[in-house]
Amino acid sequence: MQTVVIESGRITSLSSGSGNVDLDLSGYTCLPGFIDTHTHIAEPISTADLSVFYTISSRELREASRVNAEVTLAAGVTTVRNVGSYVGWSGRDLRDRINRGEVIGPRMQVAGYYLTIPAGGGDLVIPGFEESEIPARVRMGIARGPDEFRQKAEEAVAGGADVLKVIASGAVLAFDGVPGAPEMTAEEIRAVVEVAHAAGIKVTAHAHGAQSIKDAIGAGVDSIEHASLADDEAIRMALEKNVAFSMDIYNGSYIATVGREDGWPEEFIRKNDETTEAQRQVFTRAHEAGVRISFGTDSGVYPHGDNAKQFVVMVQRGMTPMEAIKAATSVAAEVIGWDEDVGTLTIGRFGDLIAVRGDPLSDISVLQHIDVVVKGGLVFRQGD
Ligand SMILES: [Zn+2]
Repeated sequence: MQTVVIESGRITSLSSGSGNVDLDLSGYTCLPGFIDTHTHIAEPISTADLSVFYTISSRELREASRVNAEVTLAAGVTTVRNVGSYVGWSGRDLRDRINRGEVIGPRMQVAGYYLTIPAGGGDLVIPGFEESEIPARVRMGIARGPDEFRQKAEEAVAGGADVLKVIASGAVLAFDGVPGAPEMTAEEIRAVVEVAHAAGIKVTAHAHGAQSIKDAIGAGVDSIEHASLADDEAIRMALEKNVAFSMDIYNGSYIATVGREDGWPEEFIRKNDETTEAQRQVFTRAHEAGVRISFGTDSGVYPHGDNAKQFVVMVQRGMTPMEAIKAATSVAAEVIGWDEDVGTLTIGRFGDLIAVRGDPLSDISVLQHIDVVVKGGLVFRQGD
């Protein structure tokens, strides 16, 4: 049994003796807390009716975010990178409330708002609604041309973003258009990258289509979200530039079942069916080629707290259980630039640890129920 001593939130010693501990973890498998590099926890729950973002009150949004944060932490996810919310800065609000101890939730990195072209994948233009009905708070990161994007990026950095998120290509489930069609140009993406890197923060690109993935990598982004339709050249470029992929390969199954049951628009269901298997094949090819893949679930598309359901698909599609766990711990920490703080049970890191009954290396699905959750040395969940 390993004893982990945590003082002021950080691990100060590790030993194999029994020691004098409050938390008895004998019989458990201990891991560092999970890191989800692609979540949307500062939003209302999963819905295909995006007009809710036009009408939701700040109070309702804060309450939904609070619940999402608590559920996410209880699932063993002690760190998240919140890569976007339609309501500008709702992630920052949640991050700051967690840091002040007002809300129970994971340690958060946040993007300020989606950097996106007019009517692009991050712009909340919904068929049937007049543009005048769209509140300004959901359109804060809209720009066109490198100069405007530079300006929006500077405002995001000044406002306290930990990471910038560009919408390089269209969304898979957007109305109209071809899934993954390029939206931002390479020059526009490069303008954002220059601002972010000058400020010492990273840029991640939402990119489904092969061309957009290549444009984003060429423009210097640090990671790619989704990477659904990457081709061999995109994979080669990612390897060459050490760009990580964050691939959400479980939620297609969720949408295929729940989306149908809940009567999501036919166009969403069809586009989901067309891209889920293709994306899983890309996952296998990218992993085999040696591309760094971090655990990013896109939770928010499916219920928060179900993040660990993705591990089973990662193992089915070619990762060993240990590789899948590393994708959610040490590899994810490196990708988000917090590898001095989280991702391993090592002296000096934050005291984030989780424990499960059973052996995830022989059955990865045991990670879907985390018995013990400790964040920064504070116990949030202890058995049932
Ligand atoms: Zn997402």
